[in-house]
Parts: sequence; structure tokens; C-alpha cells
Amino acid sequence: MMLRLSFAVLALALAHAAGAQNAAIEVQWAPERPLPGTLVRITARATDSESAPTLEGTVAGQPLHFAASGEAFVAYAGVPADAPGSVTLALIVRDDGGVADSLSLSIPVHVEPAPVARSGERLRVAPRFSKPPDSALAARIARESAMAMDVARRAHETPRLWEAPFVRPRDSRITSRFGTGRVFNGALRSRHFGVDFAGAAGAPVRAANRGVVALVADFHLAGTAIYLDHGGGLVTGYFHLSKASVAVGDTVSRGDIIGRVGATGRVTGPHLHWIARYGTVTVDPLSVVEATTQK
Ligand SMILES: [Zn+2]
Repeated sequence: MMLRLSFAVLALALAHAAGAQNAAIEVQWAPERPLPGTLVRITARATDSESAPTLEGTVAGQPLHFAASGEAFVAYAGVPADAPGSVTLALIVRDDGGVADSLSLSIPVHVEPAPVARSGERLRVAPRFSKPPDSALAARIARESAMAMDVARRAHETPRLWEAPFVRPRDSRITSRFGTGRVFNGALRSRHFGVDFAGAAGAPVRAANRGVVALVADFHLAGTAIYLDHGGGLVTGYFHLSKASVAVGDTVSRGDIIGRVGATGRVTGPHLHWIARYGTVTVDPLSVVEATTQK
């Protein structure tokens, strides 16, 4: 299913300090009113074609990485899954003379009522996964989560390694979407912060885009997992694998087979759980496909 994208346009006249010239920049973003947990594409253009501004900024505390795209500058930002009614886009625009201006825009977020767990999301897993973890296991889960978040933070330091749009890691049926409430063995435990793809054990799992293998791990919840650092703040993760075919430091191309579908970690059966992050902000990976496919 394609998400409909539209653009919000703001023409902003930036008044410089007295005596300096006025610069103007036009900022657009898509989707216009993103859902929580969405990657947003931000496009900025100088309205005066003679000027060559440089841009930096943040959304939800994560730095933006603007890259020239024709006449415009494009960056991506993650709207957190628990975002309130809006997120702030803070920009610093420097003109060719180095004179800086800052501006702050509010991106409206389409907050919906908390999703109700449907019968299809009532899952049965082995009791060792449904009981509250003891302190040793809780420490392990926290340590593994910290390792994954470290990968996510470091992706801001990696130059953008991709040009083509992100693609799905499998072309099979999606069995669970992002954000659904999950009921494990009768108890509502969490929301689903990834996308599940159907697959028999051993079926191929492909890299969603060019990147470097940042982590290959055997995690309690994620099982055998691969994290790819695509640079420019973007990370994707591939969970519950039966096999990882890559090693940390490998560069992979979009569509390369990086592993095989499995049933490791907290699962009800073989499938691929796919995640995406912009920095430490977890987003719907299908929104990454959508945002990077837009022209
Ligand atoms: Zn999943």
C-alpha cells in the first residue's frame, strides 16, 4: 500500500541583522502530516538562485544531514512513535557570506488513538519469553538494546552511503505492520515497532540499501540479528534469522542477500522482523521506502 504524500510549503523571509541582505528559503516536507513513527523527507530551496546557503538543523533532537539534490537540499528526519501533536524542525541557514539565521517550524503529527490489539496480534510464545525477565536477563536485554542504540547513534557520523531508494528486504506478504498493539500469552505487552514479512526458514533476506554491516549479534529477543548502517543517520535491522551471511565491516549493496529467514529469539515461527531507525528514533521501515522513493 502506498502512503499518500503531500507537501507543506512555507516561504520564509529571513531578516538578517541590520545592514545585511535578506535571504529567503522555502522549506517543504512530506508527508505533510506524518503519523508517529514516520521518516519525513525535508526539502529546502533558496528562493534567490544566486545564493548558496548552507543548512543544518534538528528534528526531535536528532541532527539533520542535508545533501544537495539539483537546486535543492534534501534531508530526512524521524518522527518518534510517541510524538505529541507536532515536532519541531529547527534550522540554521548560513548565506554565502557566513551570516546565520535560525528558524523553527512545527511539523504537525497525525496522532491517532492507541491501536487496539486485534485477534491476529494475540501471540503465543514459549513461557521463557512471556514471564517477566529475572534481573540477569533484564540486564542482558538492556545491554543488547544499548548496543543497538549505539549503532543508531553512530549512523549520524557515517557519510550517506546510498543513492537509490530503499527497498523491502523480502517481496513476500507482510504479516504484521508497524505500531500494532501486541498481546503475548493474553497480556498486552508492547507495540510492534517493525514490519513482519512471511518466509520459510532459509528464505533469503536482502539488504534494503547500500550500507556497512554495523552489528551481527545473537540477541535474546531479536535472535540472530544484522544491523546495517546506511549513513546519514539511517539504520535498518533484520531479526530472527537462521543465518547471517555477512560480517561486521562488510559493505553491502542494495538487494544483496545478507542472511536467511529463521525463528531465533522471541518468535511464534519463522519470519523476518524488519526495523529502521533515524538516529535513535525508531520509524516504520516502509516509511523509509516511501520517503526515499519520492522525487
Ligand atoms: Zn515483528
